[in-house]
Amino acid sequence: MASNNKKDNVQCSFCGRNSKEVGMMISGFDAHICDHCAEQAHEIVKSEAKDKPRRFSLQLKKPAEIKAFLDNYVIGQEEAKKVLAVAVYNHYKRLDAVVIAKENDVEIEKSNIILVGETGTGKTLLARTIAKMLQVPFCIADATVFTEAGYVGEDVESLLTRLLQAADYDVAAAERGIVFIDEIDKIARKQDNPSITRDVSGEGVQQGLLKLLEGAQVNVPPQGGRKHPEQKMITVNTQNILFICGGAFDGIERIIGRRLKTQVIGYDVKGEKQRVDKDNIVRYVAPQDLRSFGLIPELIGRLPVVSSLLPLDREILKRILIEPRNSLVKQYTKLFEIDNIKLEIDDEVLDFIVEKAVEYKLGARGLRSICEAIMLDAMYEFPANPDIRDFKVTLDYAEEKVSKISLNRLMVA
Ligand code: ADP
Repeated sequence: MASNNKKDNVQCSFCGRNSKEVGMMISGFDAHICDHCAEQAHEIVKSEAKDKPRRFSLQLKKPAEIKAFLDNYVIGQEEAKKVLAVAVYNHYKRLDAVVIAKENDVEIEKSNIILVGETGTGKTLLARTIAKMLQVPFCIADATVFTEAGYVGEDVESLLTRLLQAADYDVAAAERGIVFIDEIDKIARKQDNPSITRDVSGEGVQQGLLKLLEGAQVNVPPQGGRKHPEQKMITVNTQNILFICGGAFDGIERIIGRRLKTQVIGYDVKGEKQRVDKDNIVRYVAPQDLRSFGLIPELIGRLPVVSSLLPLDREILKRILIEPRNSLVKQYTKLFEIDNIKLEIDDEVLDFIVEKAVEYKLGARGLRSICEAIMLDAMYEFPANPDIRDFKVTLDYAEEKVSKISLNRLMVA
């Protein structure tokens, strides 16, 4: 195929116009098409493709396989991984069922998910890992930036702008993507909010989210924001987008505890009352607790899968340092390896890193900052010294490096 010189006297095989009458003529083996007809043909192909039911090329893994994939990246949180694996499996199964739906078929409802757990326990990591596995567009939005339409802040629709951007504006791909909405607890209705003042950043936003979570045709500004009023909207159908919401829900333990006290949890097979795991009370979170916290019932109804992430203890933190496929220890080993240096870290150094992260309440996020502090000087000096072949990090070495930095600074970060 080649574009033809205007001087060539050829005719468009579709509209019959001469090459001098058109902007551009494209020639094939035995025919020609002008720019106008080519554009029209493209429009026809696009609209036909839109109307045709699509079979998604998603390689749907079984729940156990999904969980096994998550295990490579997310340590512990067994319950959440299991719940998520089933929800994701069902979601994409439903997607397939929608495509091949017959009349009178049972309609499978959407399984949007809400994850409750302290900050830094892996909520975002879980959502991101699921998206990585499925190879679908994924975006993260922070619920706190949204306000009710017409107020200063972002409209909830803007989260679809991000998804579109993540999908390179491929609308069909975006329509089966995953959106992670962080800090959903921050838009809880405030109990002490007097009803006369409008709660623009809380309940109003929850209302705004409803239609997105449920599934609707939403007009999305492709560049987001309200700064470009002239932009042409793109219509996105949210029916098959999986929404995963996350939040720390500070203080929800008290709500759960109160409910558990007034309610028998159940009996095990021997008929004995089950003991409550008091340290990890968040594992009993139920929709009514979210309601007591200030989420509106309609929103909770659209987030039917509720799961929790447990606080990370020392053992899990240590495993996070070593086990994930891209664990910090593996990453540093690789970085030194590139400079032909063999890195060895004493086991007690790992315990020390965990201890510091716990002491300063830095959680898993802090592990990285502490490792950086230990490794920085070596990473700075060693590349200039080709004689160095090994680097053994001992407890003394680590303690000395960490003592030099202010961990208080890291706490604010
Ligand atoms: P959250 O969304 O719950 O605030 P993140 O998922 O952003 O927390 O976790 C912060 C970082 O901590 C992640 O990038 C990851 O490196 C690490 N992390 C947290 N929890 C885990 C976990 N269970 N397994 C592996 N890494 C984790």
